[in-house]
Amino acid sequence: MTEMDLIRCFIGLGSNLEDPRAQVDQALDELAALPDCELVARSSLYRSDPVGPAGQPDYINAVAELHTRLEAETLLDRLQALEQAHRRVRLEHWGPRTLDLDLLLYGNTTIDTPRLHVPHPWMRERAFVLWPLAEIAPDLILPDGCALKQCLAYCPMGTLERISL
Ligand code: AMP
Repeated sequence: MTEMDLIRCFIGLGSNLEDPRAQVDQALDELAALPDCELVARSSLYRSDPVGPAGQPDYINAVAELHTRLEAETLLDRLQALEQAHRRVRLEHWGPRTLDLDLLLYGNTTIDTPRLHVPHPWMRERAFVLWPLAEIAPDLILPDGCALKQCLAYCPMGTLERISL
């Protein structure tokens, strides 16, 4: 794989079921093992309050930088296969999950297809995405030209906690 072929992507990871730390750590190893992909960086683990229905356990989140030769939808296929392998149970929208993998950014490309919206539609509003992302890519510029640092100014860490590498 030559550097020129590679697209710089960022993946958001989250889990709040069945030993979330282990789920996220294992998923990072699995991302590193994906064919035609190279795991370049990973953030610390973070603890976040659950989004959605009340009464769920806290989430463990992280962000990974992955360089890939895969087309975006093929990468999404791979991410969804990993989610399935973690026995993700889709009981309710935004309900608890063993593993959630979101394609946050795919190079500088904007994608709007029935299956895929990139940049991920809610990433700018989510501290548990922006702060881990800033840890590994502090100088990132989003496809619309907005600096990640500027997004952070509008999305404080709040109750998000960095817990470990
Ligand atoms: P969620 O429940 O948040 O994991 O959403 C999963 C659904 O979102 C799947 O049907 C995907 O096709 C769709 N989707 C759209 N854009 C993205 C993205 N950037 N990353 C991951 N899933 C996406």
